[in-house]
Amino acid sequence: MKILVINAGSSSLKYQLIDMETEQLMAKGLCERIGIDGHLKHSPLVGGKPVFDEDISLPTHSEAIAAVIDKLTSPEYGVVASMKEIDAVGHRVVHGGEKFACSVLINDEVMAALEECTPFAPLHNPANITGINACKAVMGDVPMVAVFDTAFHQTMPGKAFMYAIPYDYYKNDGVRRYGFHGTSHRYVSSRCAELMGKPIEELKIISCHMGNGSSIAAINGGKCVDTSMGFTPLVGLPMGTRCGDLDNGVVQFLMNKYGYSIDEMLNILNKKSGVLGISGVSSDFRDLDKAAAEGNERAALALDMFHYWVAKVAGSYVAAMNGVDAIVFTAGVGENSKETRAAICEYFGYLGVKVDEAANSKRGEDVMISTPDSPVKVFVIPTNEELVIARDTRDIVG
Ligand code: ADP
Repeated sequence: MKILVINAGSSSLKYQLIDMETEQLMAKGLCERIGIDGHLKHSPLVGGKPVFDEDISLPTHSEAIAAVIDKLTSPEYGVVASMKEIDAVGHRVVHGGEKFACSVLINDEVMAALEECTPFAPLHNPANITGINACKAVMGDVPMVAVFDTAFHQTMPGKAFMYAIPYDYYKNDGVRRYGFHGTSHRYVSSRCAELMGKPIEELKIISCHMGNGSSIAAINGGKCVDTSMGFTPLVGLPMGTRCGDLDNGVVQFLMNKYGYSIDEMLNILNKKSGVLGISGVSSDFRDLDKAAAEGNERAALALDMFHYWVAKVAGSYVAAMNGVDAIVFTAGVGENSKETRAAICEYFGYLGVKVDEAANSKRGEDVMISTPDSPVKVFVIPTNEELVIARDTRDIVG
């Protein structure tokens, strides 16, 4: 069975074609600047075909999907003979609200429910829906599955997902903590259990997804019991450009003082805050490491804050689960920055965590970076959300 995994953004569309017999990645690519002009980078990974990397006209997502199918099946760049070889499509959908606690086969009823979830993710869900509709238009009756970023967190108990505001806002309006990056937290926690050779039901795991956006999840017995992102992905840790947790009074104070509209304020909190806002240097941790090494104090402060927040939130999850067996680092920063991992692990001395420097220097593979005698194990596990989407799609369609 061959499955196409689609991650549609407002002006971009990422894809992977995976052969599920071997879970081998056959091709991957990215359509960018959809609706502006258009660019497609398509990389075949089997058969020795060349990479296609050119500007092409992509007025809408339908042309983007058509271009992807064209490249996947073309004699020059293709990896399959025809579209008939693509058995199913798995779509990443950001928000499934409380309606979706697991992945589902897409039908008219599901599409209607996705529309209902749109107010919760006004930037992301419409793009995901557009991607699904474009696929339907180009691929006809090929079965499609929706896999939600929020679904894994639906096991959180009320004490973790409720906000202490009048209950009616939850009951009538769905205002609560939903959490994001669920597919990534699910993948790395289950892989962590495999690496430990134990059933996930017996493990308490803290998963730290640290990329441009960052979140932490507490996973007890394979079920998420708490996570740092909330009703939106703006809260929790300070991120590349997002502020993380913030006293609401600050919002009122700044809006009154500078006359910002709510959109202007949210733009500052989403795009100009986080480690970028603190450092004034960059949202990219590589730039911050360099600037801090050159003596930039604000870059050093931004990094210190990030390490501190990861340790503080993770520590609260040790309390929430009454212990922890393993801590996992993943995503761009978690997978690549040994300095960040080492700095965070310094805070875990109370857990007896000891880092093996040689293991912590490895890149691009699943690795245990704690010493064998460390009572709490620490892992780096490269995330693979696309594989989870493909596996769910296979299980549902198959
Ligand atoms: P997204 O949240 O957009 O999916 P990623 O998980 O791809 O983000 O993470 C991207 C971030 O990873 C970059 O902004 C950069 O800060 C960080 N990163 C990538 N490589 C390194 C590295 N070698 N050292 C430190 N940070 C890195």
